[in-house]
Amino acid sequence: MNPQAIEALQTYYGYDRFRAGQEKLIDAILDGRDVLGIMPTGAGKSICYQIPALLLPGVTLVVSPLISLMKDQVDALNSAGIEATYVNSSLSARETADRMRAVAAGHYKLLYIAPERLESEQFRALVRRLEVPLIAVDEAHCVSQWGHDFRPSYMTIVRLLQDIEPRPVMAAFTATATDVVKDDIAVRLKLRDPARVTTGYARSNLAMSVVRGADKRDFVERYIREHPDQAGIIYASTRREVESVHSFLRSLGVPAGKYHAGLSEEERAETQEAFQRDDLQIIVATNAFGMGIDKSNVRYVLHNNMPKNLEAYYQEAGRAGRDGDPGECVLLFSAQDVVTQKFFIEQSEADEERKRNDYRLLNDMVQYAHTGDCLQLAIVRYFGEENGQPCGTCGNCTDTRESKDVTEEARFIFACVSEMKQRFGVTLTAKVLRGANDAKIRQFNFDRLRSYGRLKHMGEKPLVQLIHTLVADGYLRMSDTAYPVVQLMEPVLEVMRGEARVYQKVEPEAPPVSRSRS
Ligand code: ADP
Ligand code: ZN
Repeated sequence: MNPQAIEALQTYYGYDRFRAGQEKLIDAILDGRDVLGIMPTGAGKSICYQIPALLLPGVTLVVSPLISLMKDQVDALNSAGIEATYVNSSLSARETADRMRAVAAGHYKLLYIAPERLESEQFRALVRRLEVPLIAVDEAHCVSQWGHDFRPSYMTIVRLLQDIEPRPVMAAFTATATDVVKDDIAVRLKLRDPARVTTGYARSNLAMSVVRGADKRDFVERYIREHPDQAGIIYASTRREVESVHSFLRSLGVPAGKYHAGLSEEERAETQEAFQRDDLQIIVATNAFGMGIDKSNVRYVLHNNMPKNLEAYYQEAGRAGRDGDPGECVLLFSAQDVVTQKFFIEQSEADEERKRNDYRLLNDMVQYAHTGDCLQLAIVRYFGEENGQPCGTCGNCTDTRESKDVTEEARFIFACVSEMKQRFGVTLTAKVLRGANDAKIRQFNFDRLRSYGRLKHMGEKPLVQLIHTLVADGYLRMSDTAYPVVQLMEPVLEVMRGEARVYQKVEPEAPPVSRSRS
């Protein structure tokens, strides 16, 4: 690590050491390499470009879309003794000209600009005369149409980059995580072999868990009774389901609020405020709830339905435990949720490529719901963080159920998938293995396969569950299509050659479903 960087961290910010990731990013920038930093909000992105800005000659440009935050950021830097300024649409032409003169005279190490500024040829002419060692792009996903907040003005950043001689180092930052968006940022900002660093996704105070096959109403009722006087959010995937869970809670005498886009703005604001003030403990909501809520003492987030992807899930689940105290995030999984999400994808206006992407992300979500690995690790890996430790608190880390050797069953499944030429889904594969008498099976002559009926003794649910576990454990994969087909992965070979064995946690007894609901 560059000793000057550590010194700057201590002198200007008063921190002892860099967080994981910051060091790597700063080193790369100081080595003259482009970087792409993927870090959630609060992970400490700013320091990654501010410290290089302090150490490099000239003035670093920071492109940020958040005009309202610019002044605060610059004020904070100034009071730490760092020379920074900004230009955006809040300034008069006169003020802008004055500031740019001061910048040209070398009075500042950092210049914050809104991307719209860059559309002005006149402004770019001013910038061309500066010595610019580094351009930092905040909220870099705004450059990608795959991101959730595409801004055309971000495209002009590349023009700026091409204007300046010698070419500055580019440092792009975002909290978004999908591979598609990451790659797109690198392409559109013309990053040159960027050092990619993803960091800070682990939330050690959150205990994640997945519950499969439970009666959801029973579970929610029991959970809420076991967590009295705690603030919690229950997410459901549709307005109708929100209404249904909400009236169920009301029928139990639980004073819960509800929130979805079908309610009036007034109603929503009222509910949100009541929750914020702790007048209301529980909110049942669609994903419309959460943007802009800032409540730190949410103790649990229950997902009555599985969301469309892990990014959405973690963002919603992550609203628990903002204060650093323990929080719980429970995902109630049912196969019906997958059907619902597929329906949403099919109904959407998106083009085919985008839909394929959505199916892929949905498969990842389903995999999370079936993995036997540490759930926290599964999430940070999904976000691209490599070295994590099992959290010790999630549903899987604390799972004391026995592991059963299912190597024989797994081999039959692999053989069957292979015999079916990797072209069919989980349900049909399970039917063939169970020896079902089914029109489709006869149509394809699958009743003549060697694997036909080989797992007759297994129930349909356990068999389907086992296939999903094999997907989650990386032996199988699901294709990125509306009707995902099961395909074989590399590790299958070791199992077939007898070099590795396959284990599965024994599923708990099915929870009781008989309960009269009048
Ligand atoms: P982001 O831009 O990623 O949302 P910030 O750059 O605003 O995050 O940093 C979030 C908080 O973490 C700030 O209060 C910042 O001072 C603090 N922080 C950043 N780096 C460190 C560090 N190495 N040690 C301690 N605190 C840090
Ligand atoms: Zn864990």
